[in-house]
Amino acid sequence: MAELQFSFGTMGSGKSTMALQISHNLASRGLRGALLTQLDRHDAKVSSRLGVSADAIDVKPETDLFELARAISVRAGGLDYLVCDEAQFYRPVQIEQLARVVDNLQAEVYAFGLLTDFRGILFPGTARLLELADRSYELQVEARCWCGRRATHNARLVDGVQVYEGELMVVDDPDRAPDVRYELRCRAHWTEGAGPQLALDLDHDTAVDVR
Ligand SMILES: [Zn+2]
Repeated sequence: MAELQFSFGTMGSGKSTMALQISHNLASRGLRGALLTQLDRHDAKVSSRLGVSADAIDVKPETDLFELARAISVRAGGLDYLVCDEAQFYRPVQIEQLARVVDNLQAEVYAFGLLTDFRGILFPGTARLLELADRSYELQVEARCWCGRRATHNARLVDGVQVYEGELMVVDDPDRAPDVRYELRCRAHWTEGAGPQLALDLDHDTAVDVR
């Protein structure tokens, strides 16, 4: 029986690497399928921090993923799998379309994504995946906060300061002003908005108080 599987993790937990690996393994076994992504920095490619990349279909907000899967199936004479990277950015209705790909086309769907956004709230696509997936897995490659604790939250830094409000989708881009970056933090430091520099300052203040 085909299944909708959702693997989630923080940034840097190897989601794209695993998406690339599964896609490569399935294709090299002669199975028919496609690699999908959205909003990757390199257009229509899935790339991992390890420097591997592969061509992928770029999912637009208006893309009907069931119709896309059916078109691939017609062209290839069948469809065995879809590998979906950056699935947190898919719209909830697109996650429902993926479930139909599993149920009506009997294709395996492997989705990969982040759990929560910079506000600490489930991405809408992620919430729908958790609701609909046959299985959900937390990726076991654990990223660390600067303090050494397990990093569970994605902090958005605008010009170096953590923010909790703003547009949901802002991709970090070195050419863009203001400077938007993302950093992994433990819950406590995500809540405090504390980066390593601020913490050093706090330690210093504490030391002064003690004296
Ligand atoms: Zn921390």
